[in-house]
Amino acid sequence: ENAAPAPATAPAQPDIMANFDDTLQRARLAFASGKTRNVSFRRKQLENLLRCYEEHENEIISALEADLRRPKQESLIVETEFMKNDIKHILYHLNDWVKPEKPDKSFVNMLDDVHIYNDPFGVVLVIGAWNYPLQLLLVPVAAAIAAGNCVVLKPSEIAGNCAKFIAETIPKYLDNDCYPVVCGGPSETADLLNQRFDYIFYTGSTRVGKIVHAAANKNLTPTTLELGGKSPCYIDKSVELRTAVKRILWGKLINCGQTCIAPDYILCSKEMEQKFIAEAREVLKEWYGDNIQSSPDLSRVINQNNFQRLLGLMKSGRVAVGGKYDASERFIEPTILVDVKPDDPIMEEEIFGPILPIYTVENAYDAIKFINAREKPLVLYVFSNSSKLIKEFKNNTTSGGFCSNETIMHVGVDTLPFGGVGMSGMGSYHGKYGFDTFTHKKSCLGKNLAMLGEKMASARYPPYSDRKSSL
Ligand code: NAD
Repeated sequence: ENAAPAPATAPAQPDIMANFDDTLQRARLAFASGKTRNVSFRRKQLENLLRCYEEHENEIISALEADLRRPKQESLIVETEFMKNDIKHILYHLNDWVKPEKPDKSFVNMLDDVHIYNDPFGVVLVIGAWNYPLQLLLVPVAAAIAAGNCVVLKPSEIAGNCAKFIAETIPKYLDNDCYPVVCGGPSETADLLNQRFDYIFYTGSTRVGKIVHAAANKNLTPTTLELGGKSPCYIDKSVELRTAVKRILWGKLINCGQTCIAPDYILCSKEMEQKFIAEAREVLKEWYGDNIQSSPDLSRVINQNNFQRLLGLMKSGRVAVGGKYDASERFIEPTILVDVKPDDPIMEEEIFGPILPIYTVENAYDAIKFINAREKPLVLYVFSNSSKLIKEFKNNTTSGGFCSNETIMHVGVDTLPFGGVGMSGMGSYHGKYGFDTFTHKKSCLGKNLAMLGEKMASARYPPYSDRKSSL
């Protein structure tokens, strides 16, 4: 009844694309066979996936280094360890999560069986992005497996080495009928989206998120969209600045700023701006030395397109720190910009690189007004010693997540849902929220046919009368 042992060889990717209909048909048949409904089968698949991460850690780190020149330590924290912990968390809780939920019952249903049955959706599509190419694909995939679905995995073609690893190695560990990998770029993804899935989980830009949503709409396919946008970071004058600067710069510079929840821009007073810049100079020197380009600890921009886009954004405002770049390595020095205007490109589009503009405001209320005049962010960061002020921001703004006196780390709290709101996304995942995302909550009422219950129920049958209704 358990999973078949991992197949020995990976299917060749071009064939998968050529036989896409066939691949999807096999996944549908596999789901219809009922094998993914078996919880021990799901557990076995997740254990295999965990083993894959453990056995191929070095390969994963090398693929990330090849795609992003990502330092090993960053890849361990944000990719391999993250994915391992995610699966361990699922395996620990899965037997509880799958149990039917028993909601409260009213007097009328006292004798009945009232429960919520956790039903998998069927065959789901998970589309990943390039910036965290493993975890953004495989964490939702693990949740979908846990919930009993078959899953088509579509890695981002832009992180080519990671996509190759996923296509060649993951199928050696997972059931090939239930969990096929399909590779390709926009046109192949468009073909995929023409197919009918039971659920679509997409991570990437808001622009493409709209395309995915429109395609899903044709079949009323439910979707989760994990999108991007600009996540502001407010700094209050009460903070211990050195720690705040370190946490903000780390959140900005990990993966060279190519992080959906990177603090996108700073909001603070003119006085704080000066202090922030002075501290930032020292911190950058402490972390990367005098010649930042030669430091092994800063990733690179993913490709020339993004590199050129970032150079364009650097034209806004005035460079206060950094500003150097080298196209041959797609290197951009951590750069702080000041004197930016709200309608400068850098303040309008998501930056997604190591550039941090500071927009000065008079006070916290101006900052709140500024934030609320823009699209709802994926996360709002506030640095302050005043819990009252932090509460003001939380109560008076809307964002996917909220994080005070820290950046990025909220993503690692596995009991918190992760997701956006408005243009930064819809739906959420991580831990139990991931399981629930890929689960249809089937409401079930079970009665028996005993005469006592029937007598009580008979007042609802015709012929209707006022006397019966008053019973
Ligand atoms: P990307 O270019 O890798 O695209 C994401 C996926 O969409 C890929 O699998 C790609 O093949 C597919 N795709 C691209 N164009 C398409 C099209 N026209 N039609 C159909 N599919 C298409 O990644 P990206 O979009 O550049 O990723 C960066 C964005 O993702 C940023 O905005 C970032 O904030 C966001 N992001 C969000 C999260 C989150 O969890 N909310 C995480 C990471 C990245």
